[in-house]
Amino acid sequence: MDEATSTKNSPSSNEEMPNSEAPLWQYVTKIEKPPSFAAKSSGNTYFKCNYCGKVYLGSYSRVKAHLLKIVNKGIKACPNVTPSLRLEMQRMHDQIENDKLERAKRSRIPLPPPPPGRGPIGPIPSFQRQEESDSTNPVDGKRRKVIANSTIKRAFQNNARYELDSRIGRMFYTGGLPFNFARNPYYRSSYSYAATHSIPSYVPLGYNALRTIVLQRERAHVERLLRPIKDFWLENGVSVVSDGWSDPQRRPLINIMAVSDGGPVFIKAIDGSSELKDKHYIARVLKDAIKEIGHEKLSKSLLIMLV
Ligand SMILES: [Zn+2]
Repeated sequence: MDEATSTKNSPSSNEEMPNSEAPLWQYVTKIEKPPSFAAKSSGNTYFKCNYCGKVYLGSYSRVKAHLLKIVNKGIKACPNVTPSLRLEMQRMHDQIENDKLERAKRSRIPLPPPPPGRGPIGPIPSFQRQEESDSTNPVDGKRRKVIANSTIKRAFQNNARYELDSRIGRMFYTGGLPFNFARNPYYRSSYSYAATHSIPSYVPLGYNALRTIVLQRERAHVERLLRPIKDFWLENGVSVVSDGWSDPQRRPLINIMAVSDGGPVFIKAIDGSSELKDKHYIARVLKDAIKEIGHEKLSKSLLIMLV
């Protein structure tokens, strides 16, 4: 059986299917046509969901829609896939998709080659062999080997550094990241963390995990940190403070902060571009903020400061 036929029709193609390209196949089992089902159209497979046990006909996109609970795809969402499991699957899927996109987009643009003198990483072992066999004196040879090894190590590290620099640069240029982002302490610490901790098969955060699970975790964490300050509001009152400024895109932003003896807490920033910023508008903004904070928490002598 040739390769094209086996991936299309053979039920045993589960193992042959490149799981690296279609990772969600691992959560279903490909099966032969059940007797009650109509003859299948070409290119499709029968699969049994490992979670709900239902049998469906379809290609990878249907497997994906069933497991990831994508609506309007003509297949029922799996009732037995838990939210956390779904997130994990989604993350896996996104990663593959991103990688594919990345490959397609950038495969034709090689990174800058290492500067002359450093040499590519490949030929180093032969250089090492030559160094070793060149020596006739065994003691001298040993010393030379040590020197050669450390030179090789340094050369290798230099090349790896050079390569990593190029990759990071490419990320900035192709992603439109502002150069200023290089000063972000978390950008810096993420790389130093990765360089000092060995995390086998780590996959960088994907689109969905970044906007869901990691964001929620961060938000919950900040809320927890603010809890003592917010508790303080109820006891001792809080003042609502507002100021206005223009961001680099010259959008007029109105900041709302809650200030107490516990310290100032940023509540929100409102983009006032489309508004006439008269007293009525500002009053409305402040009223909304007070509602959000809880009027019972405001200082007895209500103080609204416009800075
Ligand atoms: Zn299912």
